[in-house]
Parts: sequence; structure tokens; C-alpha cells
Amino acid sequence: MAGVSEQEILDALAKVTEPGTGKDIVSAGMVQGLQTKDGHVAFAIEVDPAKGAELEPMRKLAEEVVYDLKGVISATVVLTAERAGNAPPPPAPGVGEMGGPGGPVPKIGAPDILPGVKSIVAIASGKGGVGKSTTAVNVALGLAAAGHKVGLLDADIYGPSMPRMMGITGQPTSSDGKNLDALENFGIKVMSMGFLVEEDTPMIWRGPMVQSALEQMMRDVNWGELDVMIIDMPPGTGDAQLTMAQRVPLTGAIIVSTPQDIALLDARRGLNMFRKVDVPVLGLIENMSYFTCPHCGERSDIFSHGGARTEADKLGMDFLGEIPLHMSIRETSDGGNPIVVSEPEGEHAKAYRSIAGKVWDSIERTLGEQTAAAPKIVVQ
Ligand code: ADP
Repeated sequence: MAGVSEQEILDALAKVTEPGTGKDIVSAGMVQGLQTKDGHVAFAIEVDPAKGAELEPMRKLAEEVVYDLKGVISATVVLTAERAGNAPPPPAPGVGEMGGPGGPVPKIGAPDILPGVKSIVAIASGKGGVGKSTTAVNVALGLAAAGHKVGLLDADIYGPSMPRMMGITGQPTSSDGKNLDALENFGIKVMSMGFLVEEDTPMIWRGPMVQSALEQMMRDVNWGELDVMIIDMPPGTGDAQLTMAQRVPLTGAIIVSTPQDIALLDARRGLNMFRKVDVPVLGLIENMSYFTCPHCGERSDIFSHGGARTEADKLGMDFLGEIPLHMSIRETSDGGNPIVVSEPEGEHAKAYRSIAGKVWDSIERTLGEQTAAAPKIVVQ
């Protein structure tokens, strides 16, 4: 049977030392979140973020020594900076306590943490590959084109695609020596795990690690004043997504789906997930809605068509619009020059801008309702 024990892994990792301090990474308490399943091993090494790049050889070595163990099929190691400096970890919350098992989930990014951000909208999908990130980028650009101040947070830390789609390379720096500055292109501030880890590092991050990365990208980044922060969620509706939906003070969520029944079924799960945690779903976008042949102009409904609109009606959700399957959408977003900025006069850019307009209306409506529902303080 394939498999390896945690002890065997830790014994192997005890041979890996941190350059500079010379301490082995196990007794230094740097190995975090070790997970093994049927020979697949994943964990994080907690490091000082300032040393991230120079510790890459240590990360690789840790991966290699684990991979070389008998019974190991894959080893995935990421560097993380979960705690600032080397402060000891806070005690884990108990059962029923805030953040503990069965207890309420604390919100991160509360108003005092993101004071300049007026609204936060999650872009989600029931499964991967439906074009969630492409939609997030182009809707964000559509909002920016309408004059809004927009930030884009790539929370899809399993497969961050924002650096590539937004055509941004390089690493964020810190102008105040405290927080990272978001990188910027096309007038949008962007933060992504992709800026902090190499693109080919596979990231099998789970639970707490996902949360801490998200927390850092919200709290430890100078976002400044934003009308709206768009969050590109990891695909799916698992625990990680649910916790994210609970912990971030979302104004609302948008679900992207292709029109096939099966994708819609997943989208419905997404809707239920947000409803469960009282996050308003602002609407559904149908992506890869239809295909127009670039040669003869004939339209074909490759994944059927209109399913999302019907589904939205059935579920009492707003339908925000449909985007066709088109080569130029793929080429421009994969090439770092999304269609809303590269072909602003084209029909696809128009469609994204129209969706962005509906999203903005919906944000304003929701914020209005939330303000009206908040308890009023009467000064006499
Ligand atoms: P997800 O975030 O749901 O995993 P992506 O946005 O990364 O999906 O899209 C997956 C692939 O499909 C990318 O190569 C992207 O360029 C392409 N794509 C997305 N939407 C469209 C579309 N409307 N037309 C053509 N290609 C698209």
C-alpha cells in the first residue's frame, strides 16, 4: 500500500536546515500544516517574508527529501509567512469559541482593516475551467472603465492566474516598510499569490493555509481607497470556499457558469453556499454562452445556450449577462491584455461593460439595503 507516516517525513525534514540560522526546519517549528494522503504529501514552511526568494533552494530541498522517501508519490512544499516575524503562534481557539470548532467564524478584512474599501464582491464558480478568472478580470476592467476605483484580489491560490491575465510581472515591494503595495496595471490594483510564489510551484493548500494567505493579501497590503474590490475565488464550493465566504465581509457574490446542465448544478451549489452564510448573490453570468464561427459567422450553441438565464429565473437570481466562446477572449486574457482594454470598441468588451454596469447597480442597491437594515443611532 502506498503511504508514508508523518514521523518518517519529519525525520527526513530534520536534515534540512535554514540558511543563515543553521537550525533544522523541524525543531525550529517551521513545518506547518503537514498533510499526507495515499502517498501525496503537502506542507508549508513558515519563513520570514523578507527572505522568501533566498529560501527557495531550501524549499526545493525539503520537497526532494520528502519525495525521495519510500511510499511518497508527490511532495508539494510552499513557503508561507503566516505570522509576522517569529512571534509564537496564538493559542488555538477552543470548541465553541470564536474561530474554534463549532464557534462563530471571525471576519477578516472588517472595516477597520480595509477602511478605504467600500464594497467587496466575490466571483465564484461551481467548478474550474468555466472562465471565472477571465470574467473577473474583464468585469473589473469594465468597472474601472466606468470610472470606479477597482482592486482585484486573486484568492484562487490553487492556480493564481491574475499576474498573467493582467500582464503583471515582478514582485510587490513595500513603500512604508510595513505593508506590501499592490501591483497595478490598466488602472487596477492587483494582489495575487502568484506574485509571491513561482508560477510552477504546485499549490495544494488547504484550510488554514488558504485562510492565512487570503488574510495577508487583505490585511497586509496597501489597497488605498477602492470603490470595489473584486475577489477571484478558488473554483468550487468546498470548505475552503465556504470559510472564505464567511470570513470576508462580502457585499455580494457573482456566480459564473457555462450553460450545460452539469455546470449549472455546480453553480446552484455555489448559490446555496453563499445563501448559507448570508452573502447576497448579485447574479449569474453565463460564460461560453454560444460560439460564432469566425469564418462563416454562423452561431453554434456548443454547450447548449440560455441555461443560466433559465436557471437564474428559477432560483430568483438576477441574470447579469452572457459572454460567447470566442478565440479573441481567450487570446487576449491569456496574453495579458484582456479584451475590455485591448478591443474596447468590440462587442465582447461592450458585453463585459454592460455586465459591469449591472454589477455596480447591484452593489449600490445592496449597500443601500445593508445601511437601511443597520441599527440607527439617534442622537438627542
Ligand atoms: P477558471 O477561472 O474558471 O478556471 P479561466 O478564466 O482560467 O477559468 O478560463 C479557462 C480558459 O478558458 C482560459 O484559457 C481562458 O482564456 C478561456 N476562456 C474563458 N472564457 C472564455 C470565453 N468566453 N471564450 C474563449 N475562451 C475563454
